[in-house]
Amino acid sequence: MTRAYIGLGSNLDNPRDQVLEAFRELAQEEGIRLLARSSLYLSEPMGPQDQPEYINAVAAIETPLEPLVLLEILQAIEKKHARKRECHWGPRTLDLDLLLYGDERILHPDLTVPHPGIAERSFVLLPLREIAPGLSIEGLGSVDELLEKLGNPVLEVVRDV
Ligand code: ATP
Ligand code: CA
Ligand code: CA
Repeated sequence: MTRAYIGLGSNLDNPRDQVLEAFRELAQEEGIRLLARSSLYLSEPMGPQDQPEYINAVAAIETPLEPLVLLEILQAIEKKHARKRECHWGPRTLDLDLLLYGDERILHPDLTVPHPGIAERSFVLLPLREIAPGLSIEGLGSVDELLEKLGNPVLEVVRDV
């Protein structure tokens, strides 16, 4: 069994519900045990600013699945959510990133772990610290140190009930 962390994000079609539904879907997957889910964090979009704010969260899971199999499952869940949208090529309603898979470093054409964005993204680090305080990332340092390097950012937490 491996402990892994999944980053969830959405900025379309009721992002809060998209993310909450994704937590449920992760928990229902055979081979995935949902250990913890973070609060929902509100964050500014990366890149183009002419899009709605994001809801971001992180899930801690335990799984016997190999990382590439896990990625396939994440992509299948993303697809389910994307299918709700009518327009093709529109922004996605759900993004699921494999942030960490145990202490493994993976450099595969379809999968880089730890996820390359972790160290620069407050919307990943803050929910990660919430559910895994004291976590250290091989080669990058502790989540606390990474947040300090970003100037200890603060993000609004959204009510999810
Ligand atoms: P970013 O990865 O910078 O957050 P993104 O999430 O918008 O950007 P996507 O379009 O969702 O990027 O993903 C593009 C590809 O990234 C996927 O097809 C997948 O094969 C690859 N990928 C590589 N590493 C990972 C990872 N750790 N988690 C999820 N996808 C990954
Ligand atoms: Ca992403
Ligand atoms: Ca992604």
